Amino acid sequence: MPTTQEVEQLLRAAALRVTRPRIAVLAAVHDHPHADTEHLIGVARAELGGLSHQAVYDVLQVLTTAGLVRRIQPAGSVARYESRVADNHHHVVCRSCGTIADVDCAVGHTPCLTASDDNGFTIDEAEVVYWGLCSNCAAPTATDERTPLSRTASRKDSRV
Ligand SMILES: [Zn+2]
Ligand SMILES: [Zn+2]
Repeated sequence: MPTTQEVEQLLRAAALRVTRPRIAVLAAVHDHPHADTEHLIGVARAELGGLSHQAVYDVLQVLTTAGLVRRIQPAGSVARYESRVADNHHHVVCRSCGTIADVDCAVGHTPCLTASDDNGFTIDEAEVVYWGLCSNCAAPTATDERTPLSRTASRKDSRV
């Protein structure tokens, strides 16, 4: 969790004007990795009341363009933001609850940027999303009411 001074330094280092909304939003992204815009608005507003939705959207856009935050958007999810930038790490996403966690590149430093065939492109990002179930969702529960339904559905499917 960076201090306000550290957040100001990050903004200055990126040649951005230091404003209170930028400080509040950047600090919120640092404190809540992979949060969506609505969540960040709530956090930033707790810090700085009266902040409009549009102001937060605008700040996120500026911070993303400046490379201070990274925007990720797994299929079927709203955009999420994180402060861990420039290392091309990957993400694992839970199909059930949408929880997102960081995954380092499998081998060495950003090997995924070395495409087997770059088709003449200059590649600067490789996006890998692992999908599965988080430990909470994968844990069997005693009262799983979906089981009888899915059995019915599969019987029906097999007749078609
Ligand atoms: Zn889950
Ligand atoms: Zn991440």
